[in-house]
Amino acid sequence: MATIQNPDIRRALAERIRYYNELGIYDFYQRERQVGEASVATEVAAVVSTTQPEQREEMSPRKSAAVAAIPDESALEARTPKPEQQTTDSVAALKLIREDLGDCTRCKLHQQGRKQIVFGVGNPQAELMFVGEGPGADEDQQGEPFVGRAGQLLNNMIKAMGIRREDVYIANVVKCRPPGNRTPERDECDTCSPFLMRQIAVIKPRVVVALGAVAAKNLLAINAPMSELRGRFYDFMPAGARSTDPNWQGAKLAVTYHPAFLLRDPRQKGEAWKDLQMVMKYLGLKPPKSPV
Ligand code: SF4
Repeated sequence: MATIQNPDIRRALAERIRYYNELGIYDFYQRERQVGEASVATEVAAVVSTTQPEQREEMSPRKSAAVAAIPDESALEARTPKPEQQTTDSVAALKLIREDLGDCTRCKLHQQGRKQIVFGVGNPQAELMFVGEGPGADEDQQGEPFVGRAGQLLNNMIKAMGIRREDVYIANVVKCRPPGNRTPERDECDTCSPFLMRQIAVIKPRVVVALGAVAAKNLLAINAPMSELRGRFYDFMPAGARSTDPNWQGAKLAVTYHPAFLLRDPRQKGEAWKDLQMVMKYLGLKPPKSPV
C-alpha cells in the first residue's frame, strides 16, 4: 500500500473518509495504478480539491465509493460505534446523543445569536417523526421545535391525524436558529444533520415526514422541487447510522409542505392534507370523529 506523507493530504483524506462513513459507506478499495498514472497522493489531492458541494448534494448514499484506503487514526475513530449504540433504551440513547452534541460549536450557527440548542421533543419510540429545517425565534427562546405559529399549525395537523403531539417525535435538520430565520446553509446542514440521523436511528419510526424542501433534500440527499418530492413514499435509512435492530430496517419517508409555508399560502393546506392522509393510511390511523 502506498504511504501518503503529505499531512494536508492525509488530513483531507481522513475528512473524506469520515464524510463517506457518515453516509453509511464503510468499504473502500484502491484501484491498481497503471503505468504513467499520477501517484495516489496526487490523485487523491485532485479528488479532494475538485469535488464541489453541489456534487455531494446529488450523491446517493447507497453508492459505493472508490477512494484510496489509508490507515489513519482519525479515520478509524470515525468507524467506531456511536455511544448510543451501547444501549437499547431509546431514552438513554437520545440522552447520549444530546451529551455528545454538548454545547456545540461545530458550525457557525453557534455564534450567530442562538440562545440555546433545540434538540428535539416527543416520544422516543414514536412511530411517526416530523423533521423541519431549523428553529425559529420562539423555538430558540423555548428550546423546543415547532412551538410558534407554525408549531400551532403542526399541532393541528397532528390532531387531525387522530394522534397527539406527545405521540410523535419532532426535530429539525439544524439545531440552532439561523439568524433572521434564513434558510440553513449547506455546510451547516452537513455538520448538524448526522445528529438528526442518529436520533432517527434510535427512535426507529415507521414513517418520517419531511416538512419542506430543506428537510426533504437533506434527508433524501436529492435536489428536486417540492412538486416532484411530494406524493410518494421513499425508503429511508438514516445516513451513517447503521441499524443494529433486525426488526427495523429503515422508515418510509414522505414529504409535505412546511407549516410556515402553509401559513403564507393556506390554499396549499388541502395538498398537505393529502400527504398526511397517505401517511395515515400507511400507519392505520383514523381521523378523530369530532372535527379538530
Ligand atoms: S446547528 Fe448543529 S452543528 Fe451547528 S452549532 Fe448548532 S448544534 Fe452544532
